Amino acid sequence: MGVIDEVKQRIDIVEIIGGYVPLTKAGRTFRALCPFHSEKHPSFYVYPERQSWHCFGACNTGGDVFSFIMKKQGIDFGEALRLLADRVGISIPSRLEPEAGKDERERLYQINAAAAQYFHNLLLNSPDGEKARNYLASRGLSSKSITEFRLGFSPNSWEALKQYLVERAYTENELVTAGLLIEGEAGGTHDRFRNKLMFPIFDIRGRVTGFGARVLDDSLPKYLNSPQTPVFDKSSTLYGINLATAVIRQQDRAVIVEGYMDVITAHQNGFGNVIASMGTSLTEKQVSTLKRLTKNMVLALDADVAGEEATLRAVGYENILNAEVRVIILPQGKDPDDVIKESIQSWNNLMEQTLPVIDYTFNMVASGLDLTTAKDKSLAADKLLPIIAEIKDIVRQAHYLQKLAHLVKVSERSLEAALGRIRASQGRGKARKPSPEAVPYRLQPLLSSPVEEECVAWLLQYPELKTHCQGLLPEYFENSENREIFLAWQKVNDLILLREKLDVAVHEHLDSLLNRSLPPTNQTKREDVIAECSRRLREEFLRSLAARGGEALALEAESGGTAAELAKLQEQGVEVSAQLGEIFTQRNRRK
Ligand SMILES: [Zn+2]
Repeated sequence: MGVIDEVKQRIDIVEIIGGYVPLTKAGRTFRALCPFHSEKHPSFYVYPERQSWHCFGACNTGGDVFSFIMKKQGIDFGEALRLLADRVGISIPSRLEPEAGKDERERLYQINAAAAQYFHNLLLNSPDGEKARNYLASRGLSSKSITEFRLGFSPNSWEALKQYLVERAYTENELVTAGLLIEGEAGGTHDRFRNKLMFPIFDIRGRVTGFGARVLDDSLPKYLNSPQTPVFDKSSTLYGINLATAVIRQQDRAVIVEGYMDVITAHQNGFGNVIASMGTSLTEKQVSTLKRLTKNMVLALDADVAGEEATLRAVGYENILNAEVRVIILPQGKDPDDVIKESIQSWNNLMEQTLPVIDYTFNMVASGLDLTTAKDKSLAADKLLPIIAEIKDIVRQAHYLQKLAHLVKVSERSLEAALGRIRASQGRGKARKPSPEAVPYRLQPLLSSPVEEECVAWLLQYPELKTHCQGLLPEYFENSENREIFLAWQKVNDLILLREKLDVAVHEHLDSLLNRSLPPTNQTKREDVIAECSRRLREEFLRSLAARGGEALALEAESGGTAAELAKLQEQGVEVSAQLGEIFTQRNRRK
């Protein structure tokens, strides 16, 4: 899922627009006095199901949440996107950064690669590296693994790496930015990693972004990581991903563990789909990266920390993946590394015993309670209902509600009522303080329109079609990102210029449309295709207007619209919205 979809998914258009104009609920819609033109009778509608809005009055225009903010604040798409992303805690790089910082980042990758090679050579060849070599041997790592993961050793010196890299024409400043040097108080700099076993961290494209380092004695902290740098962001990093991608795709399953050593031991024993989160819990960015490879995630949970909080987070991952997350519970006091080394079979057994994370939580909650007593029944409901409330998929939510009803022997209906109260209070909490953790319950909005996207893909891939789509209007595109691309495409003839015109946040969407595979055609056929696309878009636009207009009209009739007006409109079919606009305008004049 691209960042634009992610923002759309977290944002509720009713809440956002409601922050600008007071909305009144009317059937399945909300309405208000239009914030864009002056009127006395409301002709501005918001549609929660489609996450869109429309003004049937003087404006006769509409769109999604982005186009509302753009119009209301007088800002461009990129600014509107960032404003909304901010509200839900998603960070989007500034539009200048990627181009301006490109050379800098390229240098940082080179520096990291050089450092990794330097540490690796020392591990393999230096007398000082013996300690580290012995440690790895004691952990049973093969030399093939050591090479594959390019493990290394940082010497016990304040300046060894600095000297090595400065001689290769990297500046001290760059080395500080890369996180390899630390600036001392007196203004000097020294090596960050000293006398440590080094784990270079690679991104999915195999570039070294940072390092993890482990002490070789009993001192604390046991592990030290690179700080955040322009190329290293712990929260979006998955250790081992560079080596695991192909296997994860092939097996359609990823297993997530905690430690570097767990990953290496797993790979060495043929479990190439194992990767590690860079801390105790997975982040949404990591889940989003993984989602491109597989929807099937297994979390290897430590028996001690696998509490309800971890489960609640896992439900958040499920909502991002739109699929079930499964867990395995490691034997008390053991890491995956221990389990695999004990026997490959015991790891295989664990993999056969994965449980959906919510079933696991049920077991865990039930095991600590006496469900024949009223007190423990309500305790179980208190613990499990908030978790069930977080599930977005309504079928799975119903399944677990049933399961809970069975467990505590209470009717589903009374649990449903309790669930409703929880949702309502979650909703209120969210209105006060939008939190990136809390995923509000609502039906998945329509994130994209297949016709819109197909149309833009044809236009992008065959620019010569420009002369064949005069009838195509920007407002036919309800999704702002499609509309943005279409508008930019109308203005320029060149893909490089087009990309420059568009906000960086739209580039991912642009690329997906550019790379979309379209059926082979000749020139004449393509002209037909684009004519057909334009026609369908226009029809869809008018149809949805008519449908919404009809709804608006029914509401009008309820609140005193005349039967004659209604009949006249129904006669007009797709012209309904224009007619409706007229009625609203006349009514405003009358009042
Ligand atoms: Zn208006």
